[in-house]
This record gives sequence, C-alpha cells and structure tokens, in this order.
Amino acid sequence: MTLNMHDKEFLIRSIRDIPDFPKPGIVFKDITTLLNNKDAYALLMNHLKERYQSYNLTHIAGIDARGFIFGAALAQMLGVGFVPIRKKGKLPYTTVSEKYALEYGVDEVEIHIDAFSNVQNPKVLLIDDLIATGGTAYAAANLINKVGAECVEACFIMGLDFLSGQSKLRELTEVYTVIGVD
Ligand code: AMP
Repeated sequence: MTLNMHDKEFLIRSIRDIPDFPKPGIVFKDITTLLNNKDAYALLMNHLKERYQSYNLTHIAGIDARGFIFGAALAQMLGVGFVPIRKKGKLPYTTVSEKYALEYGVDEVEIHIDAFSNVQNPKVLLIDDLIATGGTAYAAANLINKVGAECVEACFIMGLDFLSGQSKLRELTEVYTVIGVD
C-alpha cells in the first residue's frame, strides 16, 4: 500500500508540533497524537508492513525509546525478531556501545553483543520515529554492523529534511522516510 498525498497529509496532521521542547528553538515532533489515533497508527503500520514484507528481514532493531513502539509492532506484523538499541546503562548483558552527538546534546547507545546471534546471516531493518542530524541512527547502524549483522535499511516516520542528516547515514545503509518535514 503506497501512501498517496491524502494519506501523507493525514499522517502529518496526526503529529503534534511542540515549540521549544525540550529546549528553546527546538520544535518537538510529538508522535503520541499519531499513536492514540487508531486510524493513523494502522495506516502507518500497514504501509510499513507492505514495504518490508519482501525484504527477507530476520530482525528489526528499534532505537530507544520511540523506535521501540514502531519497531516491536512491525516485527510482530512481519514475523521477525525485535532487538532494542538502548541508551547507555540500560541493557543487562554484555554490550557494544557508540557515542554520538544529538540535535540537543551528547549521548551513547548500546546493543547486546549477541543480539542477532540466534540466526545465520542476520538482515536487519533499523527504525526510529525521526531523523534530525542523523547522529543517533548512524551510531545505531554502526552497532548493528559491529555485532555481525547487515543493516539493510534505516526507516523513519519523519525526516527533518532541512538538517540533511540523511546523507552521512546513506554511507552505511539505505534510508527511507515516510514523511519529509521542511
Ligand atoms: P538525531 O540524532 O539528531 O537524528 O536525533 C534523532 C533522535 O532524537 C530520535 O531518536 C528522535 O526521536 C529525537 N529527536 C531529535 N529531534 C527531534 C525533534 N525535533 N522532535 C522529536 N524528536 C526528536
């Protein structure tokens, strides 16, 4: 199911802009108003299911925390495994980590060292709600590669196109954004 202009407008309208959160000058894209709208959530997830059902994925890796919501739901719809990429200090087993610069700060993400070792030749889709500078996703894609898996694509519900964060990430993997935001 390809999204037409009407569908995209509907999804865009379902996402709420919060000016000056979490600090002045940032317009925070609040996806809670997409999630509590069953029609918007279903439209989005069915679109993602259709796009990725032919990719022969073994896992979806979601970025802490909003990437978990879309990633875990999509993994169930596609019948593949789910792997969390978490902020530093949250994962209980041995981890591999990467530092990165955020649109608003510095942070570090981690993955379990054996996250994909339950299959041979893991093929992974990385997912998050939004790509801004691309730093988080670049670090996450690196982690997937570091623990021996192939990151076949990185998927975002929204891309902040004015930040051009996608070009560096494209050195590591394919990039797909459902909605571009100017
Ligand atoms: P970045 O590493 O700059 O691409 O930032 C992406 C991460 O920060 C994602 O996990 C987003 O959820 C979050 N993020 C960055 N900017 C925004 C924004 N304007 N609105 C909502 N989330 C954001």
